[in-house]
Amino acid sequence: MPVKEGKMFIRALFDYDPNEDKAIPCKEAGLAFRKGDILQIMSQDDATWWQAKHEGDANPRAGLIPSKHFQERRFALRRPEVQIQPLKNSNRKSSGFRRSFRLSRKDKKTNKSMYECKKSDQYDTADIPTYEEVAKYRRQPNDKYRLVVLVGPVGVGLNELKRKLLISDTQHYGVTVPHTTRPRRSQESDGVEYIFISKHLFETDVQNNKFIEYGEYKNNYYGTSLDSVRSVLAKNKVCLLDVQPHTVKHLRTYEFKPFVIFIKPPSLDRLRETRKNAKIISSKDDKGTAKPFTEEDFQEMIKSAHVMESQYGHLFDKVIVNDDLATAYSELKTTFDRLETETFWVPVSWLH
Ligand code: 5GP
Repeated sequence: MPVKEGKMFIRALFDYDPNEDKAIPCKEAGLAFRKGDILQIMSQDDATWWQAKHEGDANPRAGLIPSKHFQERRFALRRPEVQIQPLKNSNRKSSGFRRSFRLSRKDKKTNKSMYECKKSDQYDTADIPTYEEVAKYRRQPNDKYRLVVLVGPVGVGLNELKRKLLISDTQHYGVTVPHTTRPRRSQESDGVEYIFISKHLFETDVQNNKFIEYGEYKNNYYGTSLDSVRSVLAKNKVCLLDVQPHTVKHLRTYEFKPFVIFIKPPSLDRLRETRKNAKIISSKDDKGTAKPFTEEDFQEMIKSAHVMESQYGHLFDKVIVNDDLATAYSELKTTFDRLETETFWVPVSWLH
């Protein structure tokens, strides 16, 4: 169904410069935007070129932007592993946030379809990020806190920032208790360090999609469940979760309304300067002992941050550069305070 003119807001998930767009009918009529900008849609009469303006812009003149459908097609054509199959009854006048075309992805090695999805909007922010429809949300006193997801490369200081937040107010912030199948050690209590479960139950829970993430270590499984997030939120606490960025798309639901913070390293030079006496717990080290950072660690951190940002940057609500820990912490704290009191743009699907 076409939306009422001017009532639809979208978040741009890519950068757009009409001057570099060979397809636009008139470059001067185009509207440039950056990833993360909120745009107000003024008209969707044309299936290829929508008219939009920047949210809050007093200038009544709208500019042209590529429609969601058109932009998805252009992106998909640049990615050969994604195949486009036009729908038989595709409705050219649809808002673009309904069905537009089917995607099926071929696995490069087996040439088998890995999945076929009937609704292109399942790809809004995952495989072909173009735009997502958003609306304003402000947490009401009786609402659960939004889940706060922290992502960042190994060694960037994410755990230190999380620890500082936790000890600043243990009544207000909470973290999940992971599950494991390894035997409980004498000093450990069930439900404190870990929730200890059998391998059979763990595997069943994996089958039933109960885990946000899981891994295997020395023949035992470890993982973080959706229920462990729910139990922190049920205590009326802000749940701090650090995960790999690829898991974020599964958490983007009405229930969790995640706010995603990317902790980014500073420049290579600043890393060398500020971390020369610091230590890192290397992911390659079996015992988890801390060692001084090496040049390789710094390079790896920068590279990994770059990959995270380019692949998942459209899912980040806030980027904090951890140059100096105290400054990054204070920026983080301010972000949390704002989150609880201010209005934010969230996907419309989170409001129903
Ligand atoms: P330990 O058995 O010594 O407590 O932990 C062994 C390993 O399990 C550690 O390297 C730790 O990082 C990993 N681990 C602990 N919790 C989780 C989790 O929730 N998910 C995953 N993937 N690994 C975990």
